[in-house]
Amino acid sequence: MFNELGVKCTILERGERILKRVDGDAALAVQEKMMKNGIDIEFNVDIDRVDFENGKFEVAFSQSSKKRVLQSENVLLATGRIANVDSLGLEKIGVEYDKKGVKVDKFLRTTKEHIFACGDCIDSPKFAHTASYEANIVVHNMFAPAPFAVDYDKNSWVLFSDPEIAIAGIGEDEAKKRGLDVEIVKYDYRVDAKAQIDKAELGFVKFVIDKKSGTIIGVVVLNEDAASLSGEAALIVANKMNEKAILNAIHPHPTLSEAYGKLSQQIFFNKMVKR
Ligand SMILES: Cc1cc2nc3c(=O)[nH]c(=O)nc-3n(C[C@H](O)[C@H](O)[C@H](O)COP(=O)(O)OP(=O)(O)OC[C@H]3O[C@@H](n4cnc5c(N)ncnc54)[C@H](O)[C@@H]3O)c2cc1C
Repeated sequence: MFNELGVKCTILERGERILKRVDGDAALAVQEKMMKNGIDIEFNVDIDRVDFENGKFEVAFSQSSKKRVLQSENVLLATGRIANVDSLGLEKIGVEYDKKGVKVDKFLRTTKEHIFACGDCIDSPKFAHTASYEANIVVHNMFAPAPFAVDYDKNSWVLFSDPEIAIAGIGEDEAKKRGLDVEIVKYDYRVDAKAQIDKAELGFVKFVIDKKSGTIIGVVVLNEDAASLSGEAALIVANKMNEKAILNAIHPHPTLSEAYGKLSQQIFFNKMVKR
């Protein structure tokens, strides 16, 4: 955002690429565009010190065993959030917590069974909609006889980057990390009517499919308007849909959501050819 406003920006990144929790394909596309737009990104950085002298910040960091210093007018600290529960006195009532937050089981019960916790104060994805999802489960579990368990494998979220990234369920990298037997299929927005009308330079819809069941367990969308495609992605994953279920729907033309149908067609025909 600052870069778009004409500010010279340098990102000091701890890892080998930005957005380590995001599907690699999508994250690298955003990273490339940021660099193309003039943002400098320094990778494998360890921050040693931040000083403020004579109206300027001085950030000292180590990179590949070299010591470097960067001067800037401002520093934007964006290294994440942690639960803020230390001062609540939870230990006095037997509710356990650690540096990741209040400890809960899959029914969101704390170590005191009649006390529940949800949202940013527990170790779960830190999103507004995830907090709401958990809150609904907590209220249900407080009063209903059969408790619901949380299922973060169907969580969805949007990164409002340029272009945007929408993710539902388990992305390709995460599936591989978990050792899941998955098939990856991708629809390139360059062949898409609406994307061409929009003059979108890059983008895709990717399905992560569980090979055994044929269920789509993850959806990744890279597009300038990926946010508006996130709802269908969430529905596909939460309802454990396969390509046939998606093909039941008639997606309107020309819209970016047609990609879901086109990709499902591709999976369907591939299966026919293999037979
Ligand atoms: C800058 C920023 C941008 C974000 N953007 C998005 C986004 O685009 N989409 C998204 O899904 N999520 C976003 N999030 C994350 C989202 O805001 C949180 O995940 C969500 O608000 C968590 O809800 P919560 O109810 O657990 O906590 P909160 O919304 O933080 O609510 C906790 C409340 O408890 C109060 N409180 C704290 N301590 C005490 C106390 N001792 N006694 C009484 N009250 C107390 C606080 O004042 C606060 O009102 C963003 C977060 C930040 C910081």
